[in-house]
Amino acid sequence: MRIGNVFIGGNYPVAIQSMTNTPTANVEATVRQILCLESAGCEIVRVSAPDLESACAIEAIRSRIHIPLVADIHFDWRLALESVEAGADKIRINPGNIGAPERVREVVKACAAKEVPIRIGVNGGSLEKDLLEKYGGVTPEALVESAGRHIEMLRRWDFDNICVSMKSSDVGATIRANLLFAEKYDYPLHIGVTETGAPRIGLLKTAAGAGSLLALGIGDTIRVSLTDDPTEEITAARDILRAAGRSENGVNLISCPTCARTKYPLIQIVRELEPMLANVKKKMTVAVMGCVVNGPGEARGADIGVAGGDGCAVLFRRGEILRKIPEDRVIPELMSEIHRIEEEK
Ligand code: SF4
Repeated sequence: MRIGNVFIGGNYPVAIQSMTNTPTANVEATVRQILCLESAGCEIVRVSAPDLESACAIEAIRSRIHIPLVADIHFDWRLALESVEAGADKIRINPGNIGAPERVREVVKACAAKEVPIRIGVNGGSLEKDLLEKYGGVTPEALVESAGRHIEMLRRWDFDNICVSMKSSDVGATIRANLLFAEKYDYPLHIGVTETGAPRIGLLKTAAGAGSLLALGIGDTIRVSLTDDPTEEITAARDILRAAGRSENGVNLISCPTCARTKYPLIQIVRELEPMLANVKKKMTVAVMGCVVNGPGEARGADIGVAGGDGCAVLFRRGEILRKIPEDRVIPELMSEIHRIEEEK
């Protein structure tokens, strides 16, 4: 699936999304926030279009940013039409609350004409009443059935440029719904856990929910919903992708918990090293291990690493020992080897 200049689905990397929290009609503030999100690594941005002024502002916003823009629409199909006209690269609707089928059809026609994909965004908080009654609440089956209904609605007009999200504030329900959906359908999935709360617990809930799905190979775009500055969502999403082994760039740092065998300042070294690795773009694994007994062996998959001795460490590369270095040279030597790997083709 193509969303502006970003491809998702299949073997494409998982794209990181966020959403602005400025009034969309305030073009200056919204563009400023999107540019910050871009610098942080955001790859797709969503803006709410709750009224005509906001939908119309999309044109001006779109001309000043560099990543695809998704318009978030509820209730009023005219806002979806206006957003597509204004250049939105994708729209997110809940076809169930857009109104009569003819209205959904108008939106589908407009999107088809401009090859604009539609995300069907099913949310536990706005599930159809009959499904809530049928399943006795927001269950994974109810979320999947709601998504399926909406897919059918769009397919009725031969529209298949669809991606889907099923989010709930319940982590388990979100995981099971996405697993069920992935067994049944082949549409790209936007994953995340909704209304997660304050930043730390929000990150943990999303890591548990979206992270589990990603580790199983499910999920094509991710948003970490945090009650915080949206830029924080990007850092969190990158960390989750890395932890789930789905990141296409950057360092996966592995380090041991230390034990009685540790005879060099490993904890301090990791504390200082981690922020320095944030700027490394190439995908690689760096290991900082406590001892030579298990170090190179435990971190055999690492591209580069150290295993501590008494006041010193041995540098190893892909399981092979390179040389011994004093403990105060661990960080500079590691960084210089990392840069060397970055320069390799
Ligand atoms: Fe202990 Fe060595 Fe394992 Fe670190 S790598 S936990 S120092 S045995």
